[in-house]
Amino acid sequence: METAANVRELLSSPQKIIITTHQRADGDAIGSSLGLFHYLKKKNQEVNFISPTDYPDFLKWMPGNENAIIFEKNSEKSRALVDQATLIFCLDFNKLYRLEDLGMLIEKSSATKILIDHHLEPDDFALYQFWDPGASSTSELVYDFILKMDDVPLMDSEIATCLYAGILMDTDRFRVPTTSPSVHRIIADLMGYGINHTGIYQELYETFSESRLRFFGYCIREKLEVIKDLRCGIIALEKEDLNRFNIQLGDTEGLVNYPLWIKDVVVSALITPKQKEVKLSLRSKGNFSVEKICREHFDGGGHRNASGGSSPLSVQETREKLISIFARSKNELQQC
Ligand code: 5GP
Ligand code: MN
Repeated sequence: METAANVRELLSSPQKIIITTHQRADGDAIGSSLGLFHYLKKKNQEVNFISPTDYPDFLKWMPGNENAIIFEKNSEKSRALVDQATLIFCLDFNKLYRLEDLGMLIEKSSATKILIDHHLEPDDFALYQFWDPGASSTSELVYDFILKMDDVPLMDSEIATCLYAGILMDTDRFRVPTTSPSVHRIIADLMGYGINHTGIYQELYETFSESRLRFFGYCIREKLEVIKDLRCGIIALEKEDLNRFNIQLGDTEGLVNYPLWIKDVVVSALITPKQKEVKLSLRSKGNFSVEKICREHFDGGGHRNASGGSSPLSVQETREKLISIFARSKNELQQC
């Protein structure tokens, strides 16, 4: 039997279901997870959504958010739920290490695992995969999943709101190359469920604190380093920069895109100190693969034009390492 038929069969009887996603969740992680949550509820399944870590306030308005369980704050309850689970949906990640400690629990669990994801190079931890690296977002794949389950009649405005938010954010507002004709058809369909698309946009993009907006201004004016030769823009932040603007969880989201606004810049980087490591976010235009750089040099991965990773070095050492990697790709960068 094909994958979809097997999963349809599984969902035709009562299951104890966990939905989970990657740490430091973004709009697609939360949108796809809560969209799937509403759908499975409507199928009368017992379902819980566990996020490994807390996530920013601008993602907490989505319908169903009150049901989210944060593993780092509720580890006992999460452990018990994972223990009892019969099905685990793994959304928007390709490697279990992206869930930190929760990933280890899931690895050990005997529940059937179902991956819905669009990241390159997924590990082989799920029995069933709804995986398409050409998809714009996991939210798009959740929409396809509901179609494959023959459950279009269960679609409603709550599911549509969550999936719309996920697609909007992962396509960077319908900008990135994965924004296919079918994405626009799905969006048209989602709008047909009576969602408030202007309201969704406002919740995601127009809820900055004044300090966060001024921080963006500071980063662009004072911290952005443009290396014309290498066609790159780098913002390397130190702890003092974050403290000065009282930067909270999620406040750097979107910042990495700004260097790409410069005509000749084809790759941009944001380097941010975290508690245990230095986090790296890379974005590119065209064919230049930041996924390869993150996978080969920074224990990370993602997509060709948007990837992330981490580094045990200091912020400045990480910056220097990155510049030397860009320097080795100088020919490729100049041809972009
Ligand atoms: P961001 O730069 O916004 O954190 O992430 C960009 C993309 O890369 C997202 O799709 C994200 O899931 C992925 N990504 C970020 N960090 C990592 C990482 O450490 N490992 C892997 N495999 N993917 C990552
Ligand atoms: Mn995604």
